[in-house]
Amino acid sequence: MSYIGSLDQGTTSTRFIIFNRAGQIIGQDQLEHQQILPQAGWVEHDPLEIWQRTQEVIAGAISSAKISASELTAIGITNQRETVVAWDAITGQPFANAIVWQDIRTTELLSKIAQADQIKLRAKTGLRIAPYFSASKIAWLIANTPHLQEAIALSRARIGTIDSWLMWNLSGQHITDVTNASRTMLMNLETLDWDDELLSIFDIPRSVLAEIRPSSQIYGHTLKSGAFGTEIPIAGIVGDQQSAMIGQKCFSKGDSKTTYGTGNFALINTGGEIVHSTHGLLTTVLFKIGDAPVQYALEGSVAVTGSAIQWLRDQLGIISTASDVENLASKVEDSGGVYFVPAFSGLFAPHWRSDARGAIVGLTRAATSAHLARAALEAICYQTREVLDAMATESGITLASMRVDGGITSNKLCMQMQADILGIEITRPDIAETTALGAAFAAGLAVGFWSSIDAIQKLDTGQSSWFPKKSSEFREAGYSQWKKAVVRTLDWVE
Ligand code: ADP
Repeated sequence: MSYIGSLDQGTTSTRFIIFNRAGQIIGQDQLEHQQILPQAGWVEHDPLEIWQRTQEVIAGAISSAKISASELTAIGITNQRETVVAWDAITGQPFANAIVWQDIRTTELLSKIAQADQIKLRAKTGLRIAPYFSASKIAWLIANTPHLQEAIALSRARIGTIDSWLMWNLSGQHITDVTNASRTMLMNLETLDWDDELLSIFDIPRSVLAEIRPSSQIYGHTLKSGAFGTEIPIAGIVGDQQSAMIGQKCFSKGDSKTTYGTGNFALINTGGEIVHSTHGLLTTVLFKIGDAPVQYALEGSVAVTGSAIQWLRDQLGIISTASDVENLASKVEDSGGVYFVPAFSGLFAPHWRSDARGAIVGLTRAATSAHLARAALEAICYQTREVLDAMATESGITLASMRVDGGITSNKLCMQMQADILGIEITRPDIAETTALGAAFAAGLAVGFWSSIDAIQKLDTGQSSWFPKKSSEFREAGYSQWKKAVVRTLDWVE
């Protein structure tokens, strides 16, 4: 038999998942790695630990699927985006811990970039000037790691996102894909190549960076001496959010999905068009399948969604597990006029206000923990609506339905509330692992395991749907109250 393996290297854990031709999981393994927090605002991972976990989950998944590695027709890689690693090409040893996407140590470095350069950066990359993206992290690593500087001078340094670190270890090649490169703030969205002007703003030599390739293509083979013990084509590399789009089959212009996790990430396929945002969204590469033209997306990120549920659990103690929130919120018909804006560390899209702080408004003597639980779920849904409204305005595409995935989507009450608050159908695929499935699709397309995007569209992997049950008057009245509550959170920090 033949299968596709998907390596999903996430922020908290690494998974290897094996799919059959029907897109079903036949084996998987998952291991967490350490979150290293050396000081406030810093988040690091140990690249060697990630590589170690990667090898373990590969072995674990192959054993749980009861297959041999040689039955894998190809493998794909999907990964936490923006996180950077620097390593020595001769010894394979990292020069420092990986700097993770959540790390904000480069805020000050970015504030020194001249206004004219900031404008260039935004225009060429579609991103906002934020420590979130890779460029300032790479600049920081080079400036603060003397061994790395020496290795650059000797042409033995390699720097890249996590996909390229894994690719190097699996195959010995320094390769990344267009989706990961589009999050570095160093790639030009039009040329799909590193941009000399951007490189010089951050003083990063082109020679240390990986070659940028399509998201679906045979890049090379796993080393016989390595984790698989045999040569398998590596044929897909896609950043995690873009991979979830592919896993959700969002191949056509106007298709969109929202992933509900710690925060939310909504993407909409804008086809071959680069849509520059004036409403707080990011422009990014969605994918490039082989020689076919590149597809772009608009992305809206919401900082706090699932983590507001964690807050109810860990700080307030009104639930003992995240899934308990559904039961508690079901005890009341509505939130009783309570609105909860969880702007714990500012607001991301579409506001991008780092000075915002959270608020609970509309409290009366009758308000209970159930009302607050319901308001927290509504906050997830209203924040999603804000992002989707911005997307509709900018792309000119009004959604007829929205595909969802991620941990919160197991909450049926929340999904019904989302359908009511958006006024459109919500669909959730039965397969929860859409991120891994996307990289499997990318790899499978490159080797002919799936003959075409059409063939993938026809796979019936099953889904659940929720339809709006409330009137548009109800919807708009609630949303307008929500907007008033958001205003209360702005300008809070002096
Ligand atoms: P991530 O990939 O960002 O780690 P997951 O997709 O695993 O996130 O989702 C985990 C998040 O979803 C947590 O923040 C948790 O609080 C929230 N969550 C999990 N189950 C539920 C539920 N049934 N209802 C609401 N929130 C939930």
